[in-house]
Amino acid sequence: LSQLFRPLDLLGMVYRTIRQGLIDMEAMYRLIDTQAEISDAPGAPMLHVEAGEVRFDHVHFGYDPEREILHGVSFTVPAGRTLAIVGPSGAGKSTIARLLFRFYDIQGGRISVDGQDISAVTQQSLRSTIGIVPQDMVLFNDTVGYNIGYGREGATQEEIEAAARAASIHDFIMGLPQGYDTRVGERGLKLSGGEKQRVAIARTLLKDPPVLVLDEATSALDSRTETEIQDVLRTISRRRTTLVVAHRLSTVVDADEIIVMEKGRIVERGRHGDLVRADGLYAAMWARQATERDDMPVEPGIEDIF
Ligand code: ADP
Ligand code: MG
Repeated sequence: LSQLFRPLDLLGMVYRTIRQGLIDMEAMYRLIDTQAEISDAPGAPMLHVEAGEVRFDHVHFGYDPEREILHGVSFTVPAGRTLAIVGPSGAGKSTIARLLFRFYDIQGGRISVDGQDISAVTQQSLRSTIGIVPQDMVLFNDTVGYNIGYGREGATQEEIEAAARAASIHDFIMGLPQGYDTRVGERGLKLSGGEKQRVAIARTLLKDPPVLVLDEATSALDSRTETEIQDVLRTISRRRTTLVVAHRLSTVVDADEIIVMEKGRIVERGRHGDLVRADGLYAAMWARQATERDDMPVEPGIEDIF
C-alpha cells in the first residue's frame, strides 16, 4: 500500500502547502467577500437551524468543471453526531469541508442543513451556523484578544477569557508580555501550532455554532499538547454536529460513523469495529498502525499510514 500511494502523498504535500495559506476559511471568506461566483439568490431566506443535521446527497464537484473531484458523495450526519472522514491525501476530505461552508458551488446533487439546501439560503446565515477549526490557522496581525474575539461580534473581555480558559490557553496568554493585548501573527509574536490551534478553538467556542468542522493536524504537536487539545475538542464536539477530517486514532474510534474516501468516492463506511471486521482498506490501515504503535512515541496520522 505504501508503495502505491507514494506519488499521491507527494501530490498531497504540494496541495497541503498551497492550502496552508487558504486554510482559515472564515478569514479567507472575509478577504474574498466580493467574489463573483458565489452569490445569494435574490430574496434568499436565512438558514434556520434547529437540530443541525448535515446531509450530502450525490454530490458531484470539481474545482475545474472539466476535472471532477467528488463523484457522487452521499452521507448524513444526524444532529449532534460525529462523522469522521479518513483516507489518503488528495481523496477529497478537505473539499467536503469547504463545500459545506459553501466556499464553492457544486455541479450536481444537494447539500443541506436541517433539510434546507445550503445554496438557497444566505451565505451569512450559513457561515454563522458552522464553526471551523482548521488544520493550520492564519492569525490576524492583531492582538491575541482580537483573534479570539473575532468569533463573535461584540464579545466582552470576560467572554473572551472564558473561551480561552475552556480552550486551555488563558494561562499561556496571561504569561505573555501584554496579556490579551499582545500582538500576534506574522508581524507580532509567532505562536506554535498547538497554541494557534487553541486560539482557533477559543474563537469557535465563542461563536458557539451548532455545526462544527475540524480538520485535525497530522502531527507537529507534542503528545502532551495533543492530549490536551483532544480533550478540548471532545468537549466542544459534544452535542454538536461534527464533521472531522480525522488523523487521530481516538477521534476515529469514537466517531458515530467513519467514511473512508479514496479518489473522490466513499469506498467504505461504518463504525470502527464494523470496518475492522470488514477487512478492507480501513482494516489494513488499522492493522498497519497496530504494528507500528509500539515503537512510535506519538500516534501516527492516518495519512502517514498509506
Ligand atoms: P484531502 O483533504 O483528502 O487530502 P482535498 O480535498 O484537499 O484532499 O483535495 C482533493 C483533490 O482536489 C486534490 O487531489 C486536488 O487534485 C484537488 N484540489 C484541492 N484543492 C484544489 C484547488 N483549490 N484547486 C484545484 N484543485 C484542487
Ligand atoms: Mg485535507
